[in-house]
Amino acid sequence: MSERTTNTSLLEVYRPPDLVFVAGEGSELIDDAGRRFLDFTSGIAVTSLGHGSREVTEAATEALAAGLVHTSNLYRTRPAERLADRLTGLTGLDRAFFCNSGAEAVEGALKFARRHAGRPDGPSGRGFVALSGGFHGRLFGSLAVTDRPAYRDPFEPLTPGVRFVDPFQASTALESDFDAALDPDAVCALIAEPIQGEGGVRPLPDEVLRRLRALTEERGIALIIDEIQCGLGRTGQFCAHEPAGIRPDLLTLAKPLAGGLPMGAVLMTEAVAGSIHPGDHGTTFGGGPLVASVADRVVATLSDSDFLAEVRHKATHLQAGLERLARRHPDLISEVRGRGLMVGIALHGEAAPVVQRAREAGLLLVPAGASVIRLLPPLTASRNELDRALSILASCLPEPDGS
Ligand SMILES: *Cc1c(COP(=O)(O)O)cnc(C)c1O
Repeated sequence: MSERTTNTSLLEVYRPPDLVFVAGEGSELIDDAGRRFLDFTSGIAVTSLGHGSREVTEAATEALAAGLVHTSNLYRTRPAERLADRLTGLTGLDRAFFCNSGAEAVEGALKFARRHAGRPDGPSGRGFVALSGGFHGRLFGSLAVTDRPAYRDPFEPLTPGVRFVDPFQASTALESDFDAALDPDAVCALIAEPIQGEGGVRPLPDEVLRRLRALTEERGIALIIDEIQCGLGRTGQFCAHEPAGIRPDLLTLAKPLAGGLPMGAVLMTEAVAGSIHPGDHGTTFGGGPLVASVADRVVATLSDSDFLAEVRHKATHLQAGLERLARRHPDLISEVRGRGLMVGIALHGEAAPVVQRAREAGLLLVPAGASVIRLLPPLTASRNELDRALSILASCLPEPDGS
């Protein structure tokens, strides 16, 4: 790789490899030396329609041509209203609040849940229950419900009153831990990802989701489902919690929502919405006409039933290939897990060296924790591209007896 000078003006909160991308096309990113990389990171589950998609380009171009990029929420604009209609129709929830990122959506949901708890028959608690291994963002509230000591410790004190419960333990221990934690005198909401992304691509069993819904409902505690990473078609369903057959009180969305433009959303029931009044919350940029126009087009595609069926077929193909790889390398790979095109390869060792070798071979992947390789291909990736990724990955694993 050629020698480069590193940039000294950007704050170093990331450690990017020595690559500079200058263009994108479908499932590929192109660097300044003209090298093409198969992007199975999708900017962390963001560019679900690939790079330079017709949908995003057309919708953005039309919105720019209309000359209406921003008005603030002091005034009504059509794109946000259309998008809200579409998202409520697709999720069975009743109202939408738009913001600019995932962490902001989670902050909004936590505030809305607290406000809703203030209803006459609401819980008196103001704390939150979150799940071990969960990730919800990097701001003070969203970080407080995130179970990562390394992210949290330097910034204490965070929002107080958060209890973590392990959802992956045996059912009797799980039942008694949640029974104790979900105390309406202490907490007003529980937040959960149907599939933990940063926590290692760990799907929550449907029966656990249903049990959490039943327990929270019984106690008047709000259930916040965070689908910022696993939602919007990635699992082959529009929402990852659909197979569990539950309806949350609040649902957070972001990453792929506007096809790469920054946008987040909180969807909620009419009951929650009824507790929120003008002046309770706000944002300057949220739901602006440019991002909302793009999101409306992106969501229309991601929710199409033929599109979702195709995601499920490709996911079966990818998972079968990964299972074959796992059988060939039982000493390296402990498990392949996930749903749809959100897949984790759990290793016995470190994920970072494999991710680096794959990148050098032209495949972009992202670890999820120390020992899990995460695959988040564009939902538009072709079978051929899935096969190319599988063969690059195979070439990056040491032979069974070597190392
Ligand atoms: C990425 C992520 C967030 C935070 O989103 P940002 O846009 O990075 O603030 C929250 N929840 C989940 C599940 C995520 O994957």
